[in-house]
Amino acid sequence: MHILQVDNLQKGFDAPSGHIDVLRGVCLEVAAREFVAVVGESGSGKSTLLQILGTLEPADGGEVLFEGQSIFGLSARAQARVRNERIGFVYQAHHLIPELTALENVMLPLQVRGLAQDDARARAHALLSRMHLEARASHVPARLSGGEAQRVAVARALVGKPRLLLADEPTGNLDEATAQEVFAAMRELCAEQGASVVMVTHSLSLASASDRMVRLKGGILE
Ligand code: ADP
Ligand code: MG
Repeated sequence: MHILQVDNLQKGFDAPSGHIDVLRGVCLEVAAREFVAVVGESGSGKSTLLQILGTLEPADGGEVLFEGQSIFGLSARAQARVRNERIGFVYQAHHLIPELTALENVMLPLQVRGLAQDDARARAHALLSRMHLEARASHVPARLSGGEAQRVAVARALVGKPRLLLADEPTGNLDEATAQEVFAAMRELCAEQGASVVMVTHSLSLASASDRMVRLKGGILE
């Protein structure tokens, strides 16, 4: 069973210098529990692809099936629900809310979902402990190291047990050893939860440690 089936995906932008075709027929299938790495030069459209897969950006053509269902056919409200319940996002910068503690940041997606405060707290706590971050639970992001903040961001993305994690250069700001740590934590937790992953990275060592590596070049995946 495929989590994601992408067929002939097209996307262009009207830039000041004229129209540019960024995605020119991207095809990709991601199996349940599969960890796929996407590599490609800067500007090749990796972030654009992830934004579309995450229902954050419309496409110009083609089809994306998520668990067998077209995401383009969904209403805005249904797309928001898919994002909250079935997709997790991690970016290069942690994007944690600066005023909230690590624990409160991880609780947030569950609260958006309407989970009771105590349940949200218990689940967030369990996940932070699982990530060896229990001693950091009450710290605000500014008091976390880069690797810790990124692990909290991973915990926030996975606390709701999404079927798919979309990660856009999640280790791009980290040194190599810390990048390995964050990657390992992400892999382990996704395997445990049975989530599939599409991760954009510039690190060939992380890409080769994934189940599969695909390259975005000239607007298509090879
Ligand atoms: P990557 O993540 O691989 O570096 P992006 O997906 O961010 O590449 O960008 C691909 C191309 O699309 C770039 O040329 C970028 O300038 C252009 N682009 C991305 N988003 C927009 C936008 N909202 N408006 C205009 N051009 C864009
Ligand atoms: Mg990018």
